[in-house]
Amino acid sequence: MENEVLIFGHKNPDTDSICSSMVQETLNKKTGWKAKAVRLGKINKETQFVLDFIKEEAPKLIEKVEEGQEVILVDHNEFSQSIEGIEKATIRMVTDHHKIANFETSEPLYYIAKPYGCTATILYEEFKTFNCKIEKREAILMASAIISDTLLLKSPPTTRFDKEALEQLAPIAGIDINEYGLKMLKAGTDLDDFSPKELTNIDAKVFEKEGTKFEIAQVNTVSIEDVLKRENELKAVINQTIEEKGLSLFVLAITDILNSNSEIIALGEKTGVIKVAFGKELENDKAFLEGVVSRKKQILPNIDKNI
Ligand code: MG
Ligand code: MG
Ligand code: MG
Repeated sequence: MENEVLIFGHKNPDTDSICSSMVQETLNKKTGWKAKAVRLGKINKETQFVLDFIKEEAPKLIEKVEEGQEVILVDHNEFSQSIEGIEKATIRMVTDHHKIANFETSEPLYYIAKPYGCTATILYEEFKTFNCKIEKREAILMASAIISDTLLLKSPPTTRFDKEALEQLAPIAGIDINEYGLKMLKAGTDLDDFSPKELTNIDAKVFEKEGTKFEIAQVNTVSIEDVLKRENELKAVINQTIEEKGLSLFVLAITDILNSNSEIIALGEKTGVIKVAFGKELENDKAFLEGVVSRKKQILPNIDKNI
């Protein structure tokens, strides 16, 4: 294991982080690299739907890396979202579609960054660049990641490159984009057996700006009301997390994937930033953000600018 290059996405992995790691492994093999996909956290239900569909087990879970371990990062670059020990690892490659922050290496590397809606769209183009044939398995993995990150091509980060990739991948994958996509997205909204703590951690990311740490978590649902039945418990665990991690702000976005809106719960000493960022006063620590579904394009930039 030690000599193997490890490929992984961010902590609290989403479908793109898992599927793109698996596809990156295939692409690396085809282009002469030995590397292995692993994961940094629990598989969510949406991703499990994809793994069940291709009848595969999830990549192996790892918790930290030793000094000098060679790694490939997909779907993230910020060390605060990566594995324990990342500062001392040797980063050989990054394939990512996020803003670049707090990132530094001591050696040259491949860094492929494109402002697309999904990492898998970048990988799709890499297959083309290297003239590699895309097999059914990889087509399903990439299509699933694109559907997940773009909410079926509806969310603001979606680019024409994501659309084109998904359209090309669907026939190879043998799926009907809307039918498969809706089933997959809905599988991820089954939140019943998550504790409030788990719920705030399914898709949570920590960001750092000039020493200020804040966290933005997101859950997808078909009923915001349903999630808010546990409002008080959610607030209690959020306050606990703020305390534990020394955060100045925690935002939980509860996103209605059918109507493309989000209700946010914001807690912490810097909640004043919400008014400036979104022009909305918090009521009972909550605000309804119409048309807001993307952390990356709509929530994070507004908070990051104003915090
Ligand atoms: Mg991701
Ligand atoms: Mg992604
Ligand atoms: Mg996401």
